[in-house]
Amino acid sequence: MKLIILAAPGAGKGTQAELLSKHYNIPTISTGAILRKNISDGTELGEIAARFINDGKFVPDDVMIQVVTKRIAEDDCKNGFILDGFPRNITQAEALEKSGIEIDAVLTIEVPDETIVERLGGRLECKNCGTSYHKIYNAPQKEGVCDKCGNELVTRADDKPETIRERLNTYHETTEPLKKFYEEKGLLRVAEGQNEIADTTAEVLKALA
Ligand code: AMP
Repeated sequence: MKLIILAAPGAGKGTQAELLSKHYNIPTISTGAILRKNISDGTELGEIAARFINDGKFVPDDVMIQVVTKRIAEDDCKNGFILDGFPRNITQAEALEKSGIEIDAVLTIEVPDETIVERLGGRLECKNCGTSYHKIYNAPQKEGVCDKCGNELVTRADDKPETIRERLNTYHETTEPLKKFYEEKGLLRVAEGQNEIADTTAEVLKALA
């Protein structure tokens, strides 16, 4: 299964991608997570990415296309993969197509903007392994500590209220047109993103069945 998950920031794509990854036994390629890891490791890619991410802006297309095609060429993607966070615009989608990678389905998770602003305001992420939590909807067992690896949970630099609005605007203007792009190719599957993670997962599995 070669799947793209297309959804606004905070719609739950990372969470659903992890669940689908287990379900289909294929890796998730989260471009945001790759970039954040490079930032914390202080790599050259991380230095470039930080300049854009912290303002809620996109990292340049040529950089992202390279990151993704290189990752997909790795051995663990042989039987499929889930792309979480790529493509983010038509240029990236066309580059993916040109590189000869055939996608089986494109899943969108629909969540109203107001819900997203509320959710992202409470989002926490593990500094070490990147696992995502929410102060109310998906709280860790011990406040401020990752259930998986015991490291510290922090608010992402790009989850500040003004940056969230900026990211949502960018999503509507630049990423949302991809729905039409993939609908015309007969690849689009739509799921409603409910408040409860398990309800969204049920919707997602139904949409992909
Ligand atoms: P995410 O974790 O998917 O919300 O990504 C966090 C940030 O990383 C985004 O707001 C962008 O600044 C950057 N980013 C991730 N994926 C891409 C992409 N495909 N194209 C451009 N920038 C990206």
